[in-house]
Amino acid sequence: AEEQLKALVNEPSVTTDGRQVEVGGNIGSPQDLAAVLENGGEGVGLFRSEFLYMNRTAAPTEEEQFEAYRQVAAGLNGRPVVIRTLDVGGDKEIPYLDLPAERNPFLGYRAIRVCLDRTELFQTQLRAILRASHYGNIKMMFPMISNITEIRRAKQVLEEVKADLRRNAIPFDEHLEVGIMIEIPAAAVAADLLAKEVDFFSIGTNDLIQYTMACDRMNEQISHLYQPYHPAILRLVKWVIDGAHRHGKWVGMCGEMAGDLTATPILLGLGLDEFSMSAKSILKVRQAIRNLSYEQAQKLAETALAEESEEAVLALVEAWHTKQ
Ligand code: PEP
Ligand code: MG
Repeated sequence: AEEQLKALVNEPSVTTDGRQVEVGGNIGSPQDLAAVLENGGEGVGLFRSEFLYMNRTAAPTEEEQFEAYRQVAAGLNGRPVVIRTLDVGGDKEIPYLDLPAERNPFLGYRAIRVCLDRTELFQTQLRAILRASHYGNIKMMFPMISNITEIRRAKQVLEEVKADLRRNAIPFDEHLEVGIMIEIPAAAVAADLLAKEVDFFSIGTNDLIQYTMACDRMNEQISHLYQPYHPAILRLVKWVIDGAHRHGKWVGMCGEMAGDLTATPILLGLGLDEFSMSAKSILKVRQAIRNLSYEQAQKLAETALAEESEEAVLALVEAWHTKQ
């Protein structure tokens, strides 16, 4: 079985009836790239840049960040890497940023909210990403977006940084794609409106499920309520994909659900364009996709959306697999 998987390292992620998607890996540092490539990742769908900021006493300099981003971009040989701007707060603590203690950190001052407030921190990162974009296929995305104003403000800062680079004749990719994470229910529901402002979406199911179910993603006591297959979650995912496609934008998923084989036929059937996951899941998901018919997956997804509960959806998928 291991050998069969390894044989798929250089094969496309394409269904039996010709629907091709991208299957890539999630990384937290340049060192993680090797595992993604060994496992046949077609790109990096999520570079969690906050790890560059953690376990140190001061923020990484522009030069340090540039070097890390450039290294990943160059290592991918033209394949894409989606760099997510700093996602601090919630469970991710960075002491030297002196963030205030909060009663509800997951609903608090975090990610893009911090970056739009501490513009200098944000500008330094954007400069590093832009400069690195000259050396490969880099895309940028903003985490924890809740409304259109945040996107416009983030893009405004980005434009200012670009203008400065142009003035100084520092090269960067003028066509760099800019996207957002869809991980707050309000953003998911407003996806068709937000799609006009960006080049792509990446659905962060870890947070999207947590916020939609009002269920702390790390609290064992209520983990039964953390339901990826709740029809509400599947309907949100469908709504997000349809809203983006209507505007000609592509949609990825970089939460844990993207690497869950149970979800693969449903996500494929809903029209997801890109799957990004931990390196060890890449080949299994590719193998599953290569054994699926897009037409059948679409029918399964449609039926799943009409089920009444997570239990019913899971039973449906199981019965469907035995029938295939
Ligand atoms: C997510 O929320 O699904 C996600 C990919 O981001 P993180 O797990 O880093 O919050
Ligand atoms: Mg998240």
